[in-house]
Amino acid sequence: MRELSYDAAVIGGGAAGMAAALEIRAAGLSCVVLEREEHLGGILLQCVHNGFGLIEFDEELSGPEFAERMEEKFRASGADAYLGVTVMDVEDPGDRKVLFGYSAEHGILRVSVRAVVLAMGCRERNRGNIRIPGARPAGVYTAGLAQRLVNMEGYLPGKDVVIIGSGDIGLIMARRMSWAGARVHGVVEILPYPSGLTRNIVQCLHDFGIPLYLSHLTSGIFGGDRVESVEIAPIEDGAVRFEKAFRIPCDTVLLSVGLVPENELSKKMGVELNPMTNGPWTDSMMMTNVPGIFAAGNVLHVHDLVDYVAEEARRAGAACARWIRGERPGRELRVKAGPNVRYAAPCRVGPEAPNKLYLRTLIVKNDAVLEVRLDNRVIQSRKKPHVQPSEMISVTLDPKDLADAGPDSTIEIAIL
Ligand SMILES: Cc1cc2nc3c(=O)[nH]c(=O)nc-3n(C[C@H](O)[C@H](O)[C@H](O)COP(=O)(O)OP(=O)(O)OC[C@H]3O[C@@H](n4cnc5c(N)ncnc54)[C@H](O)[C@@H]3O)c2cc1C
Repeated sequence: MRELSYDAAVIGGGAAGMAAALEIRAAGLSCVVLEREEHLGGILLQCVHNGFGLIEFDEELSGPEFAERMEEKFRASGADAYLGVTVMDVEDPGDRKVLFGYSAEHGILRVSVRAVVLAMGCRERNRGNIRIPGARPAGVYTAGLAQRLVNMEGYLPGKDVVIIGSGDIGLIMARRMSWAGARVHGVVEILPYPSGLTRNIVQCLHDFGIPLYLSHLTSGIFGGDRVESVEIAPIEDGAVRFEKAFRIPCDTVLLSVGLVPENELSKKMGVELNPMTNGPWTDSMMMTNVPGIFAAGNVLHVHDLVDYVAEEARRAGAACARWIRGERPGRELRVKAGPNVRYAAPCRVGPEAPNKLYLRTLIVKNDAVLEVRLDNRVIQSRKKPHVQPSEMISVTLDPKDLADAGPDSTIEIAIL
């Protein structure tokens, strides 16, 4: 067993993990990142398309380019990284926390630290999560796995493709598979609106003439050894019209039906999760209910832009460093998801400093209004030309507006 000791450890070396480590090092503390893959960068490494980095680097980069730029900053900061290390357990015996990681190279690593930042990202929902009936042939992949096969392993998983779910990874894979010479016969979405970003609907489906079947249930996957077809049925006035079901022949099905924050390890540590995000509840310092355990990035809530991940993780890293130096959360106000808001994160803010909140709405609406209320009094109202659940919204609270908040005051965010 190899023993290490640092001020802080970050679990996960994606964009969030690297950004958090940068801030811990900037505060003059020692920091180690533990990453189960052999490279830093996380999910970015398989996203070879453009669309990353407009805020963090003021440039449009591909995922691997963004990861490379972050890694350069990370290496320059003097933080350590142990790659190929899966953190299996974290014990909290008192003053220090002890992480146990397993690696083929080092065996068991025992890392003693004062604080931990969780940055484990998220994983894809699969066929079992959405219970599609039918046979169990080969040729059914999650879209992220297919992305990894095509972009990193040089393997095309099929030639005639149907994509179930209109999440961003599926949309991007519709375009990627088309570029690779496959025929994409359609994207099937159970909801009446797409789950992915509008820009991806335009650039990945419309530009390639790929049909989008909204309000359609996938009623079966058929085939013997290999997928042969997918059956879909329209949903009209809230009822599935099975008599109108039809089959789309294909040899491959890609599932893009949502992402779930990777929190098995967090739960083992006693971290409480918000059922609306499946990520930890955090306070104004981005700290979970377990003192000294912080969280940021997709492990906290699923983000659509890496720039927001990096921004949030920098906050968590900086707060983690202040916590190690003895700062504790001061006066806090509770943040509540109001009408038409699924969640707002973080769920507590300190009224003395500017606070950026990230939220997702439950509705699709043009000419919407985002309203922030302090105890039912509107303190901010902003027009939003269009809102939809797939597009994360951010709002910054001005401390001036929170000056007369009382000890039990609540901030409520609504989309009207
Ligand atoms: C297909 C796709 C397309 C996207 N397109 C865009 C885009 O165009 N523009 C944009 O800005 N953003 C885009 N994003 C979003 C953005 O890339 C992600 O939100 C961001 O990179 C997530 O960073 P993260 O660090 O939170 O998670 P991840 O990148 O997933 O990193 C988590 C890391 O934790 C490691 N890990 C997990 N558990 C453990 C453990 N127990 N021990 C050790 N290590 C562990 C994992 O191996 C992983 O490397 C896209 C995302 C996807 C999936």
